[in-house]
Amino acid sequence: MTDNMTVLTKLKNELHALKNTLFYKEEEVKNLKYDIEKKQEQLLEHNIIVVQNCEHEWENDFIDSMIPYRLSQPIRYCTKCELTDCTTFNT
Ligand SMILES: [Zn+2]
Repeated sequence: MTDNMTVLTKLKNELHALKNTLFYKEEEVKNLKYDIEKKQEQLLEHNIIVVQNCEHEWENDFIDSMIPYRLSQPIRYCTKCELTDCTTFNT
């Protein structure tokens, strides 16, 4: 009986420690996701500044579209900043 109680106490302690570890890992993931969001916002702001200040050099080309699937769709893009006729900034 004493051995069973010892094992049970040990398992309860291990479970408690695992729950704590899981909690801190989840918090770490939340913080990392927040950091990624902030970095993506900064990258978007920088990309907008680059596009707004670029002296575009336009080039015509063709690309294959996957959805819907279409071959050789005409596209125009800037060789410096990669702006295209289809570029959108999701803010
Ligand atoms: Zn450009």
